[in-house]
Amino acid sequence: MTTDQPADLVLRGGRIATMDAARSWATAVAVRGGRIVAVGPDAAVADLIGSRTRVIELGGRTVTPGFQDAHVHPVHGGLSMLRCDLHEDLMSGPGYDKIETYARTHPDEAWIRGGGWYMAAFEGGTPRREDLDRVVPDRPAFLTNRDGHGAWVNSKALELAGITAATSDPSDGRIERDPDGTPSGTLHEGAMDLVSRLVPDDTPAELEEALRLGQRYLHGFGITGWQDAIVEPHAEERAYVALASSGELTARVVGALWWDHHRGADQIEDFVERRKATAIGRYAPTSVKLMMDGVLENFTGALLEPYVDRHGAVTDNRGLLQIDPDGLASWVPAIDALGFQPHFHAIGDRAVRASLDAVEAARRANGPSDTRPHIAHIQVIHPDDIPRFRELGVVANAQPLWAGHEDQMDILTIPFLGDRWRWQYPFRSLRAAGAVVAMGSDWSVSSPNPLWEMHLAVERKNPVEYIANADVFLPEERLDLIDALAGFTCNAAYVNHLDEVTGSIEVGKYADLAVLDRDLFDRGAGRIGDVRAIGTFVEGVAIYEDPALEG
Ligand SMILES: [Zn+2]
Repeated sequence: MTTDQPADLVLRGGRIATMDAARSWATAVAVRGGRIVAVGPDAAVADLIGSRTRVIELGGRTVTPGFQDAHVHPVHGGLSMLRCDLHEDLMSGPGYDKIETYARTHPDEAWIRGGGWYMAAFEGGTPRREDLDRVVPDRPAFLTNRDGHGAWVNSKALELAGITAATSDPSDGRIERDPDGTPSGTLHEGAMDLVSRLVPDDTPAELEEALRLGQRYLHGFGITGWQDAIVEPHAEERAYVALASSGELTARVVGALWWDHHRGADQIEDFVERRKATAIGRYAPTSVKLMMDGVLENFTGALLEPYVDRHGAVTDNRGLLQIDPDGLASWVPAIDALGFQPHFHAIGDRAVRASLDAVEAARRANGPSDTRPHIAHIQVIHPDDIPRFRELGVVANAQPLWAGHEDQMDILTIPFLGDRWRWQYPFRSLRAAGAVVAMGSDWSVSSPNPLWEMHLAVERKNPVEYIANADVFLPEERLDLIDALAGFTCNAAYVNHLDEVTGSIEVGKYADLAVLDRDLFDRGAGRIGDVRAIGTFVEGVAIYEDPALEG
């Protein structure tokens, strides 16, 4: 590499968190041709500044590797931005006004679609059809909750789908009912399909627009890459192929191809075909998403021991394992042998254990591989299973924004777990046991702002005051800031198989960078959650810039 040509871009006078193996610090970085050509003290870049070099004076602000989100749904999030989006109301109430306004201003839409409602805004976490009928009396309405594990429907939708007291629950879900068996308006997990199959498909144009919106939104938080945690052929995949082909995909994306739990090994061939056909530019469909269970709030998260009821008595419900563990013992070795990464969704300790067991079966069959399996969510982990993450080479994929006291945790979760509530989100224990801890937001389930997430990982308290409870959530599981930052940089790059070219600020790597508005590590400068991204670069090109970047 010649060093005498001038750089395209120089950032100097800052606190560069390189996130290299030594976690070293620098003050300046220089970029040429999309790659990092120098990192060090300001003097190391002085000779690289030419007449056409853009020089950004950092004034002590932090630069990190561009953030990567290890589990996120940007197309889905973008679609909610296009539709009846209740995310903003999620803490304050059910959002009836918003639904009413949306329906009134979209008279031509045959269905009212959207979502983002918050379980804790409704009694028992389950909204009712009559309340939705009041604001949408004339058309069917289908509104998913913010975690995507339930839907709120009105009477028109139930009627169209032919769901009555006589309809039995599907094996993979549950229809919420009144005591006499009448459907009350909430459909859990697989029961959503009874209605969603009638909802018109998203058009290719809507999907592409959704990805553009989602991508722009994420870039605004310093995010330069991600793993899309559900990619289906006629939905997300279309959008990625379109934007990667047209050059509009500025983010680096790993797609996790959705495992259909109604099918078996036959779908593996399709994955191989799709990997070959759709890997374009920055889009790499190299992961397979295995949704092992549901969520605890509706008792579909799979637990080793049964849930307790609200009086603390043991029930007979251990939740639902959505993928047959016997099948998994051959499917996961098969996808691992083909070089696909298993990406598990596991909330309950039974789901976490079944995921680890499946990786163990793959290790036995194939020996060590470089597929870097990961388990996302890891809400309840049996203490015996914590060391297995390191032993099996399984990455812990944490969503730290959920590890706090708020209504969803305090009212809908803790009472039904009993003493096991202390096994939730054991990030520090995983780290201490040698696991690689990567992080993601699960947006649009929760905010994609990595600084909020790091705040929670470190403080175990939500930075948004109106949700924050006075108590710190299991303080012994607080992470150090440098480890939380690793979760969104080098460790997320590792899980995305992008660590050779991104994830740290080192000579030769792509200049994917996030510039923050202050010194991230100086608590005198404010709370972690108050820090914000003011500049985002991919291969040295600014894809998001706040006026403060030059200020
Ligand atoms: Zn997800």
